[in-house]
Amino acid sequence: MIFLDIDDKNFDQQFAAILSRGEETGREVEQVVLDIIAAVRQRGDEAVLEYTNRFDRLDAKSITELQVTDEEIDYAFAKVKSEDIDALKLAVERVARFHEKQKQETWLSTEETDIMLGQMVTPLQRVGIYVPGGKASYPSSVIMNAVPAKVAGVPEVIMVAPTPGGEINPHVLVAARLSGVDRIFRIGGAQAVAALAYGTTTIRKVDKITGPGNIYVATSKKLVFGQVGIDMIAGPSEILVINDGSGTPGHIAADLLSQAEHDELASSILITTDRGFGEKVAAEVERQLAQLSRESIARASWDKFGAIISAANLDEVIEFSNRIAPEHLELAVSDPFAILPKIKNAGAIFMGHFTPEAAGDYLAGPNHTLPTGGTARFFSPLSVDDFVKKSSIVYFSESGLNRLGKDIIRIAELEGLEAHGKSVSIRLGGQE
Ligand code: NAD
Repeated sequence: MIFLDIDDKNFDQQFAAILSRGEETGREVEQVVLDIIAAVRQRGDEAVLEYTNRFDRLDAKSITELQVTDEEIDYAFAKVKSEDIDALKLAVERVARFHEKQKQETWLSTEETDIMLGQMVTPLQRVGIYVPGGKASYPSSVIMNAVPAKVAGVPEVIMVAPTPGGEINPHVLVAARLSGVDRIFRIGGAQAVAALAYGTTTIRKVDKITGPGNIYVATSKKLVFGQVGIDMIAGPSEILVINDGSGTPGHIAADLLSQAEHDELASSILITTDRGFGEKVAAEVERQLAQLSRESIARASWDKFGAIISAANLDEVIEFSNRIAPEHLELAVSDPFAILPKIKNAGAIFMGHFTPEAAGDYLAGPNHTLPTGGTARFFSPLSVDDFVKKSSIVYFSESGLNRLGKDIIRIAELEGLEAHGKSVSIRLGGQE
């Protein structure tokens, strides 16, 4: 962790290492992924099976062995504690309720009596959701991807999740059924993304792939974009906590660590107008780190990409926050609602001293798939919008075309597109 003063003339230089984390992704990965995609395009199921057996240390004889059956899901329900099922159910309900509010309706405008214009909202027909499974299992990722798709009305949601060594995590299966997933394959990495993008005999081609994953998954999503839609390329996770000296140092330390434990490349930053408070948080982080089961990951992240920054006033703090556009932003201040209107760039904003970011990770309601690495300047959280598309609707009656026809013809002539103009004049009784 580094202690910085935002007014120090070397601040930008000192902070640069934290901002550029994870950028060294490498051509090697890209080449590996290109080869996998090419093999899946050529040899379909056979290639998916080969790579899955190799990377996930399995011995499956056919791709159908990798499709999860209803009996397996029933078994998972029997195995998982009822309190855990209830917690996942609550998360599904709350996430669904929140995302319902995002739905947009088809509309037709009749402001003009002879012309109708509108927008038709249609769900994507089939989507693939990637649920990471290499190093840990994430039932929350299932919920955050599948529920918005189902709320949007997507008829077929295909989930892929690698199962290194074999068995799929039962909580992931429970979350999948509760969220309405239609089909599950125990495959992952670039081979799963390629199968979803191009289709194989067994795995049907989808319209869009969403969900987080490691560098192989992120790179393959980037490479199949255009063939299919993708949600975003998520980089390592990050949190920025804004503080005015109010609150409890131990609470803020816990929030910083909740991000650091994700990944060695995760970044946790506190910016405070009270340097003494910052020092107390630093001491608390050290004390709490020693008690974490994922201490080594959290420590690696905190040591390299953690920072406590002191600033002269809240205006400086807010200017900094808007500049880095954090994925998660906590307003750990006495009056968060006073600051909120000044926040321009952030993936998700957690208000006040009793809203730890973890609430948003699991069941507050909003999506936890958020733009990282400063992309909150122009990207939004995953939402129902990611699972629909819009078609424009145009209806001209004869009198409508009579009214606007000559201007259509004029613009067609400006552009030198004669046939465009004729398609109008022919209807208005003009020459063919
Ligand atoms: P993963 O499912 O993303 O990747 C596992 C797959 O990677 C394997 O099945 C294999 O196919 C492929 N792979 C591994 N080594 C390979 C190699 N040498 N060559 C080719 N392919 C290879 O699981 P993971 O590795 O545990 O990574 C999960 C990632 O997702 C982590 O970075 C985690 O932080 C992130 N994550 C993000 C969120 C979020 O919401 N932003 C949520 C959960 C997880």
